[in-house]
Amino acid sequence: MEDARHGFAEKLLAWYDAGHRALPWRETGDPYAIWVSEIMLQQTRAETAAGYYRRFLARFPTVSALAEAPEQDVLKLWEGLGYYTRARNLQAAARRVMSDCSGCLPDTVQGLAALPGIGPYTAGAVAAIAFGRRAAAVDGNVERVVARLRGIRQDVGIPSVRRALRRAAEELVPGDRVSDYTNAMMELGATVCLPGTPDCGACPVAAFCDALEAGDADLLPRKQRGRAPRQEARGVAVVCCAGRVLVQRRLERLLHGMWQFPNALDAADAQGLARALADQGIAAHPLRRLGEARHVFTHIIWQMRIYLFAAETPFELPESLWADAEALRALPIPTAMCAAKQYALACLATP
Ligand code: SF4
Repeated sequence: MEDARHGFAEKLLAWYDAGHRALPWRETGDPYAIWVSEIMLQQTRAETAAGYYRRFLARFPTVSALAEAPEQDVLKLWEGLGYYTRARNLQAAARRVMSDCSGCLPDTVQGLAALPGIGPYTAGAVAAIAFGRRAAAVDGNVERVVARLRGIRQDVGIPSVRRALRRAAEELVPGDRVSDYTNAMMELGATVCLPGTPDCGACPVAAFCDALEAGDADLLPRKQRGRAPRQEARGVAVVCCAGRVLVQRRLERLLHGMWQFPNALDAADAQGLARALADQGIAAHPLRRLGEARHVFTHIIWQMRIYLFAAETPFELPESLWADAEALRALPIPTAMCAAKQYALACLATP
């Protein structure tokens, strides 16, 4: 096996130069745009993120445009991407950049990491890709590549192992072309050094790979399984009244600021849900069951039963409004409530 300090980056960059996926954030040197892309890519596949990225930058082309926008507009453009805290933090950071940094994104790992929502990975990625800083960006893809290349066989969930892996990643970063190198490492992890069985025959850095030599690449990285997500049974109510439906702005940490249909935990049937709604000040009676839906968050799974309710007259509640079809389409509604939204739109379309 060859020493990774000599020739590794050259081989990787030559492979990257010979052809890679055309992704919109690779066509810009604008640090703001690169930052937006890195936040989107934290939990989202590149192919999915590309459309969101284009729409987001068309609406908020600069840090100041994002800083000045109403939060609802930002959440609406994030609708469907999930992990909405990312969008709120992105805007909070944009406001901080405007107020404390004269509108310019910091160009160091430390400066970036001081902004809301920017952790070690994003700080390293933006510093390296946008500013050419010699920093490592260790996301899930790069973690896998480095664990295999350097033969790191302990559980990468252990903090000391994670730190060792990060140091190993930093040692590999070359002195120049850091931006392309960072993209190339991510590209390798996303297209060749795949989870499960990597395509080692097509790997440009196979000569440097410890795991390939040892024959255990498919077993790395080792990671203890996390706890299984908690199951929650929720009753969800589409409450109709005079051609409108009742929606509420969420105040909870999960999906904060997004709009939802009234719902309650452990409301097993229509009557149970009616009682829970009454406790929330919603006077409505159940008409029929509309269907079921399931949504998986990181730590929770919502198993939802969706019911149609009717209210005699529209009433006022804090952080709530009665939406017609047009307003419903305009509000930022999370994917978890997508099925309920479709039922609501169908009900509103029925005379
Ligand atoms: S040789 Fe195989 S395991 Fe090693 S870095 Fe390349 S693709 Fe990954």
